[in-house]
Amino acid sequence: MLKLDRLSMSYGSFRALDDISLHAAPGELVVLLGANGAGKSSIFLTMSGIHRPASGSIQFDGMELSGMKPSQIVEGGLVHCPEGRKLFPGMSVQKNLTLGAYVHRKDREGVRRSLEEVFDLFPILREKKDDPAGSLSGGQQQMVAIGRALMGRPRALLLDEPSLGLAPLVVRQVFEVIQRINRAGTTVLLAEQNAYSALAIADRGYVIEGGRIVLEGDRDALLGNEGVRKAYIGG
Ligand code: ATP
Repeated sequence: MLKLDRLSMSYGSFRALDDISLHAAPGELVVLLGANGAGKSSIFLTMSGIHRPASGSIQFDGMELSGMKPSQIVEGGLVHCPEGRKLFPGMSVQKNLTLGAYVHRKDREGVRRSLEEVFDLFPILREKKDDPAGSLSGGQQQMVAIGRALMGRPRALLLDEPSLGLAPLVVRQVFEVIQRINRAGTTVLLAEQNAYSALAIADRGYVIEGGRIVLEGDRDALLGNEGVRKAYIGG
């Protein structure tokens, strides 16, 4: 179980997250909806140990994550795939992927197996494994970013705006892959502005505005909610 309890976080004097409580049960796919600047990335950056919470707790399978280093959090099984992919464009696809397995680097056989699993999930990356990551299309680069996160062997995955800047057909492929990863047993927290596609594959979701949760519900309740439709789906 992944559980935030009354989590707050500030950038200097600006309170970016205010009393956020949310959870994802093992195997669930939970969506965070919200406009630009609502606080979705800040939630993930705090969960993954990049920012320190001002108060509140972040629990994962009985561990308290707040105060842990990012590498310890990855070792604990919670892996963050950041907004904007954050690849090393001049490095090969395989090198970028292998960086995601840094905390497991001593287990060379395990890293090799994870790499094969990622190549099985994204066959195009096997073909392009020696190419610089920056030479790939936007959709393929997003696959590298997701693949790199999988190399960390997550039990729970934080995916920040994986559809950003991608063509509709590619968005569909990315969401299909996310659904496959989730169905194979990985808990997924998915931050998205592409509300309709995200809710289509989700179990539940939360709506974030101004660093607060303003609404939560299961997929059908959110898809049917007039406010959600107007603000995030369009009519
Ligand atoms: P987006 O999709 O645009 O990233 P978001 O919902 O992820 O939106 P955040 O990036 O978490 O939103 O930003 C939440 C608020 O915190 C915004 O008002 C943003 O301007 C502010 N913010 C984000 N990062 C910083 C930072 N490093 N320093 C100061 N303020 C920040």
